[in-house]
Amino acid sequence: MQSNALVMEESGSLTQRDIAVPELGPRDVLVEVELSGICGSDVHMNDGGMDLDFPVVPGHEFSGFIADVGTEIETDSKGDPVEVGDPITVVPGVVCGDCWYCNNVPTRPTTCEDRDVYGFLNVDYGQGIHGGFSEYVLVDERTSFYRLPDGMDVELGALAEPLSVATRAFERGFRPGIPDAREGFGIGKSVAIQGAGPIGLLAASAATAGGAGQVIIVDAIDDRLGLAERFGATDTVNFTDYEDEDDLIEGVKSLTSGHVGPDLVIEAAGVPDAVTQGIEMARDGGTLVEVGHYAYNGETDLNPTRLVQKDLDVFGSLAYPPIQFETAISLLDQLGGEVPFTELFNCKTDFADAETAYEKQANGEAYRATIHPGGV
Ligand SMILES: [Zn+2]
Ligand SMILES: [Zn+2]
Repeated sequence: MQSNALVMEESGSLTQRDIAVPELGPRDVLVEVELSGICGSDVHMNDGGMDLDFPVVPGHEFSGFIADVGTEIETDSKGDPVEVGDPITVVPGVVCGDCWYCNNVPTRPTTCEDRDVYGFLNVDYGQGIHGGFSEYVLVDERTSFYRLPDGMDVELGALAEPLSVATRAFERGFRPGIPDAREGFGIGKSVAIQGAGPIGLLAASAATAGGAGQVIIVDAIDDRLGLAERFGATDTVNFTDYEDEDDLIEGVKSLTSGHVGPDLVIEAAGVPDAVTQGIEMARDGGTLVEVGHYAYNGETDLNPTRLVQKDLDVFGSLAYPPIQFETAISLLDQLGGEVPFTELFNCKTDFADAETAYEKQANGEAYRATIHPGGV
């Protein structure tokens, strides 16, 4: 069949045209897309920062309704029954199942040496999987997908992906997992999050749900810090109020118990200097999780001695394993009434206005601009 889609012919050039959707196999699912978010990596792709095999149909944060199922499909990846018409969201990363990492480190699928991701592949690629900027997407048998709980707004499903990124980043901070010995994170502990973009805000809601006693968010924009409070921040810090970096670091530390700094720092700004600031902000023997630099964003001078002197645990966090979607969906379900998740969607467009959506996502006006193939 054909599907109307938004195709990035090359970086910076979007066209609307029909693409071929492969025939439904017995273990495939066809999704009618409701919406698909524009993520920082999509902006990066548009700006020419990614060496991809164009043309590409972008979009790896999408949800929609099941339009058709293969003859062998009875449940989603969790085992819950599914049928045509059910709302679902799709895990965009697909592993090869064959390489050394797939065989030896299956709990970390992002280490797969031949990983495919919906929204980054050539539109004519053999497997036929493409991104969510399309009326229909074929979800093939290698792919995990999850039914959304009854009563959940289907649009929230498009947040399952960034919330998986955010919850995993937060959960990295739990290691080694001896909270009663203050090793790793635990109930009542403090976390500072650098950056009040979608990942930072979602990490704040995760930290709150995960029992944090104090959630400090650092950003430069007051509007974002205001929203951060509604996502669970107990303290907000506008770094432009501080004279210099040292002043900012002391400012954050002064908010914490004993003024030693937060137990956990999550760098979600993607600004190189934020990493060195995060190292200094964290208390000695604490933890730093780096999630902001999923794409190259420049470099910074790092003094390795400080990592040793502070006896710091430092974790990188790239995406998530598929089951992280279960965590994200239950969090959306659990907190949907209290946390204003849908306010992140502050720029909704159809195909015709996609360039505006990219612009607003790039300049920070939109938290999460979304493309709605069927119209807004
Ligand atoms: Zn993304
Ligand atoms: Zn592999």
